[in-house]
Amino acid sequence: MKGESQEMLIQNVDYLIRDADRIELGVDLLIEGNRIREISKSSGVQVRSSMEIIDGTGMIAMPGFVNTHTHCYQSLLKGVRDDLGLKQWCEQVTFPFASIIHKEERETDHPRLGYLWSMLGAMEMVRSGITAFVDMDMNQEGVVQAWDDLGVRGTLGLQLVNRWVPPELMIPDELRKKRALKLIEKWHGQGLLQVAMAPSTAFACTPEFLTWIRQTAERLDLSIHIHVNETRWELEQARAETGMTPIGYLESLGFFNRPVNAVHCVHVTDHDVEILKNRSLRVIYNPKSNAKLGSGIAPVPRFLEMGIPVAIATDGSASNDTNDMFEEMRFGQLIQKAYREDPRALSVKDVYRMATEEGARTVNLEMGRLDEGSLADVVLVRRKTSHMEPIHDLLQTVFYCSKAPDVDTVIIDGKIVLKNGEMLTVSEGEIIEEAIEKMKTIGYELEGELSASF
Ligand SMILES: [Zn+2]
Repeated sequence: MKGESQEMLIQNVDYLIRDADRIELGVDLLIEGNRIREISKSSGVQVRSSMEIIDGTGMIAMPGFVNTHTHCYQSLLKGVRDDLGLKQWCEQVTFPFASIIHKEERETDHPRLGYLWSMLGAMEMVRSGITAFVDMDMNQEGVVQAWDDLGVRGTLGLQLVNRWVPPELMIPDELRKKRALKLIEKWHGQGLLQVAMAPSTAFACTPEFLTWIRQTAERLDLSIHIHVNETRWELEQARAETGMTPIGYLESLGFFNRPVNAVHCVHVTDHDVEILKNRSLRVIYNPKSNAKLGSGIAPVPRFLEMGIPVAIATDGSASNDTNDMFEEMRFGQLIQKAYREDPRALSVKDVYRMATEEGARTVNLEMGRLDEGSLADVVLVRRKTSHMEPIHDLLQTVFYCSKAPDVDTVIIDGKIVLKNGEMLTVSEGEIIEEAIEKMKTIGYELEGELSASF
């Protein structure tokens, strides 16, 4: 059952994180509709019988995280291989799965895989306090339907490619464009859903197609997300073909005339950094994925020094292998300190802001802080655990010690999606079972089935 109350009062919250610099103790938080109406000292809000009451005792309230880049279809590929770089990983892990997806699309009018991977990924995100995300995914109806059913703020990044596509997937550009426009018209701005343009890489699209993508984004006011400068191999390929880096090449095409979310930016030249700065591009930092695939470490402290905005993201589950924002923040900060041999390389506050306020700007929503008037995306985290207590500095404790299972309650747009650790809007157990069965029927030999003989 969804929480349908117009007014919801979270009483006696132990700690409230408004943002990285403002933390309050002993607070009541009143939600009206989908907005935060009032934040006051405990017992400061008059209780009315029509209010839905949530007990905040023993809880830390914080804004929902924004995961600015993921690929939910990889939710079905967790824990597959640990020894491949990006190119071989695509060839051996994700491309074979994409072929199965397209086979299912050809053989049935109602493909189910998309719904299942999307729901698994979205539920995992909610369980780590993520209430909004950008998913560069297959352009299937089921993908967005899952988010609508769950009640989460999903942005579908339409994965657009028209070069280097396997022959069986080649379709005329006009048809590609028509399908993209149809999905935008149907879903963008519907409920909590958005659609974004997401050309996979600079070289998976022709220059004409990239221009169409930029112009369409401008015309329909959509955000753009693109993988750039992820690996050294990619830079070598780009230089061989164009004499430029991917960022330099896109600049030469006028692609950055509209601000773009530049996903990865691991290997950048001085000229690339200048372009990022001058074009007001946002870097999307994916530390765990870049580490797992051996891609490298993005120079995030340098970006911040130059005033280039940076948001953080998990990337897809097959290169991470989680959609866990606590883990991502922690890893993303610690690896910079270790790599630079400098404990001040990147602060807790900087990375926390990437996961909240900067993430909110990425999806163009008034969230990422808990303030009167902002959207009611509120996460309650349990504090009385052996790995959290005693608390000295609240933000640092949440950052370094919290784990996704500590997330007790998640409110999105004023509605409860997770309460006392239980998903309210969908049957999580049934979806997990269906996903396991589905993977077996499409030919994956899964381990982990319990044996009766131990
Ligand atoms: Zn990605």
